[in-house]
Amino acid sequence: MLNTKMMSQELVKRLKQLMNTELPKPKKKRKPLAEAEGLAKELPDFMQGHKELLGVHIGGCIVSGEWDDKTMGSAHAHCNGYGKGYICCKSMKQFEKDTTMKHELAHILTGKGHVLGWAKCYVDLLNGDHKWLTVPWLKNKYGFKTRKKKTD
Ligand SMILES: [Zn+2]
Ligand SMILES: [Zn+2]
Repeated sequence: MLNTKMMSQELVKRLKQLMNTELPKPKKKRKPLAEAEGLAKELPDFMQGHKELLGVHIGGCIVSGEWDDKTMGSAHAHCNGYGKGYICCKSMKQFEKDTTMKHELAHILTGKGHVLGWAKCYVDLLNGDHKWLTVPWLKNKYGFKTRKKKTD
């Protein structure tokens, strides 16, 4: 009788050891972002060869799976957190628009919101197209606010 408590403690300890060694560890792996992968081949040239860009997700947000017009705009880029490296588009319409994709790609490449570094990257990607779309024009439009969570 005097050993019952000790024995049960020992048993619990051994059970814990067994559980730690023999039970598979819970998988921390995120769900595969496969929906966007098939599309990688169809990405336009300007979107190729960027290791930061993992893919473009069309028809919804890769993180939420849905589309909220109020918070998501027509397209956005995930610069951090789950979904990092992905651009989400509401529909093919946004994907087919170079200015929109370059805007979002610049977010992915710089990892930044609407700041000066992003604007310079965006204008570089435009590579002479849309001459009206300059860094000062972007500065006027976005004011280069640095504290912005969601980028669109
Ligand atoms: Zn998204
Ligand atoms: Zn943006």
